[in-house]
Amino acid sequence: MTKFDGKTCLITGAASGLGRATAFAAAAKGASLVLTDITADTLATTAEELRAAGATVHLAHPADVSDHSAVVGLAAHTFEAVGHVDIVMNVAGIATWGTVDKLTHQQWRRTIDINLMGPIHVIEEFLPPMIAARRGGHLVNVSSAAGLFGLPWHAPYSATKFGLRGVSEVLRFDLRRHKIGVSLVLPGAMATPMVDSVDIAGVDRDNAALRKAIGLFLRHAVTPEQAADAVIRGVERNRYWVYTSRDIHLAHWGQR
Ligand code: NAD
Repeated sequence: MTKFDGKTCLITGAASGLGRATAFAAAAKGASLVLTDITADTLATTAEELRAAGATVHLAHPADVSDHSAVVGLAAHTFEAVGHVDIVMNVAGIATWGTVDKLTHQQWRRTIDINLMGPIHVIEEFLPPMIAARRGGHLVNVSSAAGLFGLPWHAPYSATKFGLRGVSEVLRFDLRRHKIGVSLVLPGAMATPMVDSVDIAGVDRDNAALRKAIGLFLRHAVTPEQAADAVIRGVERNRYWVYTSRDIHLAHWGQR
């Protein structure tokens, strides 16, 4: 019996990258799945692929995590369909880069709404029923290496990833008495579609220096499957700190 066997696992951002890879890895460990993402068609395709691979997908429900009412709807559908959730994984996120003279208010706002308010909405709607159910469980929050230290151009992104780390630092203590573990996942570079969809303020995407920087970033990247493996092991071993990087043999975890 593993931490996943027979458990229901909610994953946001499940249509792509780390969320998708984690869904396959959690299913392989025996978890049944509730999946959500803002992109309905890719989410449906991912759910079909998981079912074809033998996974139990209770629900693949499109929702924008930055919209509180959408997350309320997701929770209502989930508890109606499944009754309870054991593991909640906040994976959905976007990347926004730029210098303060180029970033727009809309870029700051959107990044904070998705990357910080999104996980908070999920925590608000899923954790109280988990506590009330007295089944214990686990919460995974995906922050970033950019939630540990400053990286050039990352101010809005870092604001959200430091913020999510702050929420996690508190919840790891608050949820302990309810036997709900917390893992803070801090990926370094990961080769996912996010790298190509970064919202960059005032920078031409064909800019040679930018392409070089992204090439360098990707040379240090782990695959989403390698990062997902670290997430799963972090939950299984009830580790708070899950940092993934190629430079430190893929994963390092501990209590810090
Ligand atoms: P990805 O783009 O492959 O996946 C992110 C998913 O989130 C997508 O499916 C996207 O549709 C979904 N999403 C975006 N906005 C959403 C919204 N408003 N509501 C619901 N879903 C939404 O990217 P990824 O690299 O797999 O990112 C997963 C997590 O890892 C993110 O939180 C990201 O910040 C973090 N991260 C990524 C890297 C990296 O190098 N790729 C590094 C550190 C941390």
